[in-house]
Amino acid sequence: MQVIRNITELRATLAQARKKSDSIALVPTMGALHAGHANLIELARKQSDYVCLSIFINPLQFNSLEDLEKYPRTPEQDLSQARESGASLVFMPEHTEIYGQSREEQNQNVKVLAGSRSKGLCGAYRPGHFDGVVKIVSILFNLFRPDFAVFGEKDYQQLKVLEQLNADLHFGVKIMAAPLIRDLDGLALSSRNQRLSAEERKDALAIPTALRAVLERFERGTRISAELLELAQSKLSNLKVEYAQIVDCESLQPLQIVAEKAQLMVAAYAGSVRLIDNIRLEVQPAKGQ
Ligand code: AMP
Repeated sequence: MQVIRNITELRATLAQARKKSDSIALVPTMGALHAGHANLIELARKQSDYVCLSIFINPLQFNSLEDLEKYPRTPEQDLSQARESGASLVFMPEHTEIYGQSREEQNQNVKVLAGSRSKGLCGAYRPGHFDGVVKIVSILFNLFRPDFAVFGEKDYQQLKVLEQLNADLHFGVKIMAAPLIRDLDGLALSSRNQRLSAEERKDALAIPTALRAVLERFERGTRISAELLELAQSKLSNLKVEYAQIVDCESLQPLQIVAEKAQLMVAAYAGSVRLIDNIRLEVQPAKGQ
């Protein structure tokens, strides 16, 4: 596994790799890798024999300096994990390698603006966040020119925003969605979980509990979003809820009634840690059909 920190070396290495491999897959991450990331790499390996992992804490997608500073950094463990999962290349640039100048100067740089899917949900509470995400992913797509890129459904809105970016800017990357991976207790795996105290972690379990409760109610026939969301809110009462919404799976627009399928999306704080989670609500075909 090659570890590369600068762009010149990356371009040269990828040019060689292209001669030997049929395809290149890219898994972008911000590090502090866990089993959710490992699953992304494994999925990528099913598509391609040359899997690249990028580890870059993208300052442009953080709204708060405190969140950026507190974001977990575990580079040594990340490299062992990447090796174990079968990555061929890890790209770990310094932030100046990507953006060049100081933070002030970066504000003058080219901007990439996320589309309509970025407006609600997290986008409404984290101004500029998805613009930062689409900028770094555009840079990574240009550097790697991957055939495949894998993103997790844990960040469902991000996945849909990036599908829109890929289509609108004609990057031509095949975007693959990896399923959300949970811990044994049901909490969605996230690098930010490391920052939860034992008590906060217990409180955070209200999120998967709420999602499951809504799914059960949905499976018993409730289709009215307001009723389902009232149940979600009641289960989340010990947390500071940012939003709980039922939205169209593609446009991410709120739905009053779930006709066939929808995505239940939640963001809530356990202490000072912001957590997101989601689940698909989908009418199952009657048995025998
Ligand atoms: P991050 O390092 O948190 O920016 O995440 C990098 C990629 O891993 C994104 O595509 C995430 O959606 C994905 N990811 C993070 N956590 C999970 C999880 N628990 N299950 C599935 N994918 C995940």
